[in-house]
Amino acid sequence: MIREMLTGLKITARYMFRRPITNFYPEEKPMIPPRWRGRIVLTSDPDGEERCVACYLCQAVCPVQCIDLQAENRPDGRRVAKRFDINFARCIFCGFCEEACPTYSIQLTPDFEMATTVRTDLVYHKEDLQISGTGKHPNYSFWQVSGVTIKDKEKGEAINEAAPSNYRSNLP
Ligand code: SF4
Ligand code: SF4
Repeated sequence: MIREMLTGLKITARYMFRRPITNFYPEEKPMIPPRWRGRIVLTSDPDGEERCVACYLCQAVCPVQCIDLQAENRPDGRRVAKRFDINFARCIFCGFCEEACPTYSIQLTPDFEMATTVRTDLVYHKEDLQISGTGKHPNYSFWQVSGVTIKDKEKGEAINEAAPSNYRSNLP
């Protein structure tokens, strides 16, 4: 007990005579690590199309249920989110949604400057979330890999496409 107290006092004494460190935020921005889990965005494919296919996995995995979305099919057959809302007043920035997303659409960014005095402003809609950039995966296009039928090719014959699995082989 005495030993722990002396250790604590030693640390206090060490810092007592150091020069204070003052951060002049917001004039001087702090260094934020690239993997910081801050403001969430919905990214786009390299060709500019939105990546989200409205699979609802992020909504299902979110521990505080702050994601709400609605799917729709576009006339060209592509499935997208008609509506995508995140309530950042509830979000705990755990990153589970990013882990669950099969298309790398939803990503957390190092932006932390979201403070507001109006709580309802913390509900971000699709137009606030969707960006034209690709984020952490610049060359990935889920749609080109998995979303389209290749003319004159059977399943598994396209470039980078795995052969179909035989689900019967998984039977015990
Ligand atoms: S970071 Fe966590 S709490 Fe926030 S939306 Fe994603 S899963 Fe939900
Ligand atoms: S952001 Fe990702 S996980 Fe969420 S609905 Fe869209 S594709 Fe699915």
